[in-house]
Amino acid sequence: MKFNTSWQYDPSPESIDHIVIDKEYGHFINGKFTKPVKGKYFATVNPARETVLSHVADGTAEDVDKAVKAARTAYDKTWSKMPASERGKYIYRIARMIQERARELSIIESLDGGKPIRESRDIDVPLAAAHFFYYAGWADKLDYAFPGRKAKPLGVAGQIIPWNFPLLMAAWKIAPALAAGNTVVLKPAETTPLTALKLAEIIRDCDLPPGVVNIVTGAGTAGASLVNHPGIDKVAFTGSTDVGKIIQKALAGTNKKYTLELGGKAANIIFEDAAIDQAVEGIINGIFFNQGHVCCAGSRLFVQEGVANNVIRKLKDRMETLIVGDPLDKNTDIGAINSKDQLNKIKALVKIGVNEGGQMYQPNCAIPSKGYWFRPTLFTDVAQSSKIVQEEIFGPVLAIQTFRTVEEVIEKANNTPYGLSGGVWTDKGSKVFKVSSKIKAGVVWANTYNKFDPTSPFGGFKESGMGREGGLHGLYPYVKLA
Ligand code: NDP
Repeated sequence: MKFNTSWQYDPSPESIDHIVIDKEYGHFINGKFTKPVKGKYFATVNPARETVLSHVADGTAEDVDKAVKAARTAYDKTWSKMPASERGKYIYRIARMIQERARELSIIESLDGGKPIRESRDIDVPLAAAHFFYYAGWADKLDYAFPGRKAKPLGVAGQIIPWNFPLLMAAWKIAPALAAGNTVVLKPAETTPLTALKLAEIIRDCDLPPGVVNIVTGAGTAGASLVNHPGIDKVAFTGSTDVGKIIQKALAGTNKKYTLELGGKAANIIFEDAAIDQAVEGIINGIFFNQGHVCCAGSRLFVQEGVANNVIRKLKDRMETLIVGDPLDKNTDIGAINSKDQLNKIKALVKIGVNEGGQMYQPNCAIPSKGYWFRPTLFTDVAQSSKIVQEEIFGPVLAIQTFRTVEEVIEKANNTPYGLSGGVWTDKGSKVFKVSSKIKAGVVWANTYNKFDPTSPFGGFKESGMGREGGLHGLYPYVKLA
């Protein structure tokens, strides 16, 4: 591959003139947008421009209580009594309406979160619709999902999601809960609440019975109130390992079921016999997709010694071509970092990487003067013990190590507290099976990376969490089996 023939791309910005974002959003409780009990709001900011997009309700324990009560009433009086085939129809309707409003949702996702429009348009939003379609199909087939057993819903699910895939994470949570007959209170992340609120509009417009889905915006304290509320039966959390541990402690000794989808530090392994050009694309996708704000990002690269120089040279050449900038431009490869706090965290960890002796490389790409940006970055000369090899950076930063044998790379890949995902690149099917079965991670991709499908379970081992989302496995945490 030759990357030195410089293509010049004309700007190709997505038009936003048809987008409606209200100045202020309340919580979505019992089928209506309602003002927060304490009357407080906070700003949600466009990270590419540092401008305020809207103000959203700052949820408190009182708001959470109202939402949980609405969810309980809806569960007792409506949703748990409704024939499953009718429940399925509502979920299909949500899926179709997401498709109808796909362009609007993609633009708002990119405005609020900073991710390139190409990704929100082609990945986040279609996958969110696909999750609703998939679980709509299961609603009246639970007897087939769990043969010989009777699946009953749990009741009210409290769900908390992070900022990296806001609409998609809402879909991962809400769709299986509803299909199994539960009602929901969802708390989106503080920096990216807007697509969840647009989803609330869709849910309202679908005539879903009031209270079946409630959305309370706010900070971590609102999430904690939800976890600790005695009226919920299940907690579904996606976020950092630190907060996951707090939640697990809070739930110990209660009867609440829980699933925790936490952080990761995946090994992406390139063997000498791999198709190197494809592997280079896979490395780029593995670490720079969504600015590296991806729990399953291939942030630790292991390259077999014989091809290491070649792979690193090709990787650097390819990095020179990446376009960093306006998330709404269809040519953009890497958008804005989601928040100032996250940018500071990335900068601090990169500084530690340099101080620990790592060799840093960044391309010369231009970055806008306003907004939160970080150039795609790679490190060589790092050790297993380096902080940037051990800790999740959650940004566009790749740490590269080499290896000689299969046994060595398996040992190194597993030398992490996490166990969410991994990648293997080789020409040999037998090596794929050998290595992927020995990597302790919930998902291992072979000769590809970051492929998601609603039918396929996703989740971690060790400090990456417990329980699975997606597929049939994703229904199980929302039912009790008789
Ligand atoms: P956080 O854990 O900081 O936040 C996740 C959510 O929990 C947010 O809504 C947050 O609110 C809320 N929260 C914060 N404190 C508490 C608390 N004490 N009790 C209850 N809820 C709380 O994670 P980030 O948002 O920073 O997300 C990034 C992390 O998520 C990464 O570690 C990433 O790996 C992980 N992740 C895991 C995935 C998986 O499937 N395994 C998928 C995607 C991300 P607020 O926004 O106000 O802080």
